[in-house]
Amino acid sequence: MPRSIAQEQDILKLPAPKSPPQLTSRRIGIHTSTSGGVETAAERAYRLGCNTFQIFSSSPRQWKPYLLGRSQCDQMRGLREKYGIKPLVIHTNYLINLAGVNPEFLGKSIEAFRAELERALALCAEYLVLHPGSFRGSSREEGLDRVAAAIREAANGLDLKAGNLTVLIENTAGAEYSLGGSFEQVAELVAKLRGLIPIGACIDTCHTHVAGYDIVSEAGMHETLAQLDATVGLKNVAVWHCNDAKAARGSKLDRHQHVGKGMIGLEPFRRLLNDPRTAHSAFIAETPIDEPGDDLRNVETLKGLVQEE
Ligand SMILES: [Zn+2]
Ligand SMILES: [Zn+2]
Repeated sequence: MPRSIAQEQDILKLPAPKSPPQLTSRRIGIHTSTSGGVETAAERAYRLGCNTFQIFSSSPRQWKPYLLGRSQCDQMRGLREKYGIKPLVIHTNYLINLAGVNPEFLGKSIEAFRAELERALALCAEYLVLHPGSFRGSSREEGLDRVAAAIREAANGLDLKAGNLTVLIENTAGAEYSLGGSFEQVAELVAKLRGLIPIGACIDTCHTHVAGYDIVSEAGMHETLAQLDATVGLKNVAVWHCNDAKAARGSKLDRHQHVGKGMIGLEPFRRLLNDPRTAHSAFIAETPIDEPGDDLRNVETLKGLVQEE
């Protein structure tokens, strides 16, 4: 999970770059701070050398929604057009659990998810990433059905298609009771929602690794991508969260590390970024900021792996 950046490390406080950043043929970005208003994130993403980025559109750990102003949406759109930054990915609030059994909590989650959809539409975001949630207290199958029903209810009356907004189901680290720990579960949910709303997947490299898939060896990555293609379908993976992992394969511990500095290492990211089957995807880091400049370094590391034709 992404962390917000401290003020003193904010790239907006540094002098503006003299020349436009070098970009690659791949869409590469990072989870970006919205400190000072959501629209400020587009300028940050540009200065970090990104051509795509991810934000929270509201506080990620509070129920109280952030109220978006019309001028903020216009500014965000204007900056993205000026810099050619696309897609804009929004990550939903962590409190939302659309698979839960508690009716009060589920009701709150549906309301909060609807507000996420409304803000994503207002900001002209292309993607809204959702963790499928925890089914504790029921069966996995019932959990999946609850998520599908909850998303349908939350999206009722909203025209996602006209807004060019697609909801992406993210694979998870595979903790007990959490949905989405396998590609099959992500695929099942995507299948249940197909036809109801524009739907796709977001695959996180750290989650994939700690859930038990081998992406470290070349043969393992080949096999894992084949499994992903056979279930979710690589064409449906619109966003890759490019995070290295602090924990071992199969540990189910979700601890993100800087790209190339963890248990996954640099080579798997090189293979992923240069695979022709992922050329349509956006690659977004959700790496920690331990030292000032870590955000810029992770973006540059990813960009440095792209082999141009
Ligand atoms: Zn996530
Ligand atoms: Zn994570």
